[in-house]
Amino acid sequence: MNRRLTIACSMIPAVLSHIREVMAAIQGVNWRWIDTDALKDLTARREADIAVCAADELLYPLQEDLTLAALIHEIPSFPKKLAVMCRADRADLRGLFFSLDVRNTYGKVWLVGAGPGSADLITLRAQRALAKADVVYYDDLVDESLLSFSEGERVYVGKRKGRVSHAQDAINDALYRSAVEGKTVVRLKGGDPSIFGRAGEEVDYLRRRWVRVEMIPGVTAASAASAAGLFSLTQRRISKSVTLLSAHGIEGLETIPSAEGTRVYYMAASKLKEIARDLSQRGVSLDTPVVLVRNAGFWDESCVAGTVENMADLEVSPPALLIVGNVTAFARVERKALFIGVDPDIAGVQEPVVHQPLIEAVSMPTPAPDRPETPLYRTVDPRPAPLDLSYFSAVIFSSPCVVEAFEEVYRSFPDHLLCYAFDDSTRDALQKKEVHPWRIVACPVRKPGSAKSKKTSVTQSVPNSG
Ligand code: SAH
Repeated sequence: MNRRLTIACSMIPAVLSHIREVMAAIQGVNWRWIDTDALKDLTARREADIAVCAADELLYPLQEDLTLAALIHEIPSFPKKLAVMCRADRADLRGLFFSLDVRNTYGKVWLVGAGPGSADLITLRAQRALAKADVVYYDDLVDESLLSFSEGERVYVGKRKGRVSHAQDAINDALYRSAVEGKTVVRLKGGDPSIFGRAGEEVDYLRRRWVRVEMIPGVTAASAASAAGLFSLTQRRISKSVTLLSAHGIEGLETIPSAEGTRVYYMAASKLKEIARDLSQRGVSLDTPVVLVRNAGFWDESCVAGTVENMADLEVSPPALLIVGNVTAFARVERKALFIGVDPDIAGVQEPVVHQPLIEAVSMPTPAPDRPETPLYRTVDPRPAPLDLSYFSAVIFSSPCVVEAFEEVYRSFPDHLLCYAFDDSTRDALQKKEVHPWRIVACPVRKPGSAKSKKTSVTQSVPNSG
């Protein structure tokens, strides 16, 4: 089938000679060209079927009714890529140039939200992207155990104080180069990529270079903080709005968030004085409650309460969010129960459960008709670092062996901890360690089958770092 195409082409002679080569390679097409600079207009007005120019002449973003049909590789006489543009509704033209499009050899970049850090607050979609990645560029605040979802190369590009700082331009360029090499790239960012995550700059850099980008949302720190403190950012009748602010550069903010609304300040830990001053200058009442939520989503999440008046004296280390507004009066972080056995789902306690496995099954003795299969357990090796037990109100002991493992790692059984024991032998083991009998209670046990499978567990795990 013979087709006739009208090609609008920029006047660079080398471009024209290259187009001749390209068009000669496409069978069954007659073409004529119009030498012009008004490429877009001609195409949009349907006076030309396609427009061809040097890729870096294209204005970004393209008009919505136009699309890039192909990006064609540089030739020796013209060391730039050629862009072939057509109307977005011309699938025939997009198809015609498809096989010439160098973007088919490119990989793709996923900007992925990792959530606030804890590995179980990442989305399934993010996990799947990580599993496909050839290379993962990751930031600070991304729990390294999240990287275990990927078998690809891992490149740290964080900007944490005291470590090598990675300039944004260098990160943009690295993402671009990896994609052009055909790699599937994951750019893993803390929280949600679109919130104080410089996603916009990375997307812009890549799209200007015609690399495909997709974004996968993540749980932003503000959501993790309200979940940690069990309060609503927009509690009915108290707050109708949430404003997300960066604590850096607040002085320059002209807009005044509404007096009743909730304000969430990211990167706030070292800026409390400045924020307090700014709030009072804006007329926010000094007795407005505030909370500082640290490590939201982790086993050691914490919440310190104050008011606009005294917040400058509150102490907190990063990462922390400052939340200002009447909704924070409801914030409480509940102390948790530590489960150190193998399967935390069997403990039916009321407290939120954190799982730090201190024992592991070693071997199954050869089963005999008169002897049921019982696994043997030993304390995990290497011993995990002890957690700060002041974050906990209870420990769950599922067997005497767990009591031994706890003593090996924690050395003692601090008085503030309620001890849940699964059975009498575990209770005896605790009493032998001189835990006062009043502190030992029977652990409510969930019946087998009441939790459908291990995968349904909402217990938070502490990765063992050795
Ligand atoms: N894109 C991220 C925010 C990046 S800015 C998001 O959507 O959450 C980094 C700031 O986020 C930190 O300085 C801190 O204020 C906040 N932050 C990140 N993780 C946090 C966590 N687990 N707990 C409390 N604040 C956190």
